[in-house]
Amino acid sequence: MEIKILEAAWILPITAPPIKNAGVLIAGAHIEAIAKSEKLPAILAGKNCVRHNYGQAIIVPGFINLHTHLEYTILQSLSVEGGLLAWLPRLMDVTAGWSQRDRLDSIQQGIKEVIAAGTTFIVDNSYDGASVRAIAQAGLRGLVGLELFGVDQSLSDRQWQRWQERLEKELEDQVVKQARKERRLDITVAPHAPYTVCPALWQQAQQWAKVNDQIVLTHLAESAAEKKWFDAAECELTQFLIEAFGRIDPDFGNSYKEKLIWKEGSKSPVEHLHKHGLLENNLLAAHAVHVNDQDIDLLKANTVAIAHCPRSNARLDCGRVPLGKLLKSGLRVGLGTDSKASNDDLDLLAEARFAINWHKEQEPALEMEPRQIIERLTIKAAACLNREHDLGSLAPGKLADIAVFALSEDKNWSESNDDPYDLLLQGRVKLQALFVNGAEIEVFN
Ligand SMILES: [Zn+2]
Repeated sequence: MEIKILEAAWILPITAPPIKNAGVLIAGAHIEAIAKSEKLPAILAGKNCVRHNYGQAIIVPGFINLHTHLEYTILQSLSVEGGLLAWLPRLMDVTAGWSQRDRLDSIQQGIKEVIAAGTTFIVDNSYDGASVRAIAQAGLRGLVGLELFGVDQSLSDRQWQRWQERLEKELEDQVVKQARKERRLDITVAPHAPYTVCPALWQQAQQWAKVNDQIVLTHLAESAAEKKWFDAAECELTQFLIEAFGRIDPDFGNSYKEKLIWKEGSKSPVEHLHKHGLLENNLLAAHAVHVNDQDIDLLKANTVAIAHCPRSNARLDCGRVPLGKLLKSGLRVGLGTDSKASNDDLDLLAEARFAINWHKEQEPALEMEPRQIIERLTIKAAACLNREHDLGSLAPGKLADIAVFALSEDKNWSESNDDPYDLLLQGRVKLQALFVNGAEIEVFN
């Protein structure tokens, strides 16, 4: 088994205090030990190992991006004018004209960006599954949700059957098989949102996820319109659905009232999912912006996890997550960048900086220190995926998913600050190396 030792000025184990001038010992796919540099010779005596000394750098667990759509990476210039419900049809129009090559190029560019940001684990929502193979090939760790749509419950059996066929097709690929064998890759189901997937179809997805011990990915309570739609007879979301589903079913505009009958009787998207037994501890919900106290109680009682995407919410004019309340309730919350169609980049440290500034400005009492936000990119994000036992921190026995960030050469800056969490967050670090399962991944800078 290959043994590697990664040394640097700082090691941030996350679940233990930072260690100055130390090394991480990796044996195969796992971390074997962490020790101060002066103790390494004794630990390594007689062992044949590869030593990397990164000098003025910080070694951290690889970041976990809880919500992306890699396929939309090249859509950064897509107009967000008019907010989410005006933006979505634009996204559908542009991507409808894409070739498979266009989609793959976009995904590849996204993968380079998440790697450059020190991300080792991507949770990706995929329209057609193209990111599955790309993530496998890149050597990253990934959870890809094959998206599921369908509001007509009379078609749910057929739609579910079609989804399973898509899954089977992905599982046949040799590169995918290998990544699954290395336990780097999972494929799961992503019912798009409570307003685009009827309960009958979602329940089949939920059942499958339970049997297969998988996380279910969705978008939940992202816009005010979504909340209003469940609470009122009609609103602009109805128009959006007529337009969107009318593209595949020309009769949808005439029959939508009876097709959407399942939405009746709930005041909010959270309450709707709860009513149909769809809130569970394997649900990872992106956004959760429009949640009231009762919704938060329901999310907490059912231990749902939240992927918070603040820059996307701001750009699409969706509003601000009541973060103080979510955190106070004890809900599991991590960060996601969402796609570049609604964000500047796929950089989680930039996301974290924005989150701190935005929430502190609106909720000055909110406690959000550099250490706490870095935890949201690592151990707390792992907890959102029920993976805190083997990911999200640097400790013996954990998987060796590691990012090494070089500190700025300005020593006055790096040596005058004794808080490595703060150094990491300030935006003056650059990714130097990345490891997944102990294997080094090529870094694009
Ligand atoms: Zn999304």
